Amino acid sequence: MVKDFDELHAIGELTKIEDPLVRYQEITRINHNGDSFPIHSFEIGSDDPSAPVLALFGGVHGLEKVGTQVVVTYLTSLFKQLSWDEELRRSLEKYRIISIPLINPWGMYHHRRSNANDVDLMRNAPVKALEKKKFLLSGQRLTPRLPWYQGQENAAMEEELQALVNYCRKNIFQAKRAISVDFHSGFGLKDRLWYPYSKTLAPFKNITEMENLEQLLNETHPHHIYQIEPTSESYTIEGDVWDYLYDEYIQENPDGVYIPLTLEMGSWIWVKKNPLQIFRREGLFNPIKSHRYDRTMRRHIMLIKFLFRAVGSSKAWVKENSL
Ligand SMILES: [Zn+2]
Repeated sequence: MVKDFDELHAIGELTKIEDPLVRYQEITRINHNGDSFPIHSFEIGSDDPSAPVLALFGGVHGLEKVGTQVVVTYLTSLFKQLSWDEELRRSLEKYRIISIPLINPWGMYHHRRSNANDVDLMRNAPVKALEKKKFLLSGQRLTPRLPWYQGQENAAMEEELQALVNYCRKNIFQAKRAISVDFHSGFGLKDRLWYPYSKTLAPFKNITEMENLEQLLNETHPHHIYQIEPTSESYTIEGDVWDYLYDEYIQENPDGVYIPLTLEMGSWIWVKKNPLQIFRREGLFNPIKSHRYDRTMRRHIMLIKFLFRAVGSSKAWVKENSL
């Protein structure tokens, strides 16, 4: 039986759009104990797989509902705008936005970070950490009863992650310019925008382009709230799928530029301002009060819009001789 809950329902509503610029599909279905959870994707704009692309992902960690909510809020607004904004339609004939708003629907339905096999999907890709590991937090294979469980050594990737990897190979790897954002929420007072690597402090190949992009954001939106840093700044992570996909992309596409970003929305600020929400199951990872929810949606939609313009105007942050 297909399970229904608010976020999955909202994604179902998005599939009702009828517009030649929008395509959607059910990329796989997660079945567990008689329950069934579809994973949907959306492709908006050009159908040329080499066209510049902005990719938006959410719900890798089921408990972090706000990530999926930001992506769904953006897509809902985009679909409305498509009905009247001719300039936007022209842009999307040249560029693409692609999305999987909810990667771990079983986890979201069950208020769990992991999937049904207790695996943390952000620790499950075949990537080794090279330095500065933090006990448990960097990923662990000791027991599925503790968080950050990576799954068994040398086992195949979990179904949800394999679907995500296949999707990115198909829809991102041919693009010469690509930016992706994976929306998470967790501890910390600030919203952090992370770039590769997770596995090491060593810089990734597109670090110059990343720094140019950061400067462009700082100059275009001087009041933005993001702390921008490599994921490994606090501690290295083993099994990060964005490390895995980035390394594969750059091998296949040595002249291409791909920036995989992870947005970690700081949830301490929501708890600090509303301590009672600590007693609610989602309270540690999501804004509960409605004005805080509204502010969260607004602020990140500004970022998505900026990144969409940037991926379409890459001359502003990519030196042409790297073409
Ligand atoms: Zn997360």
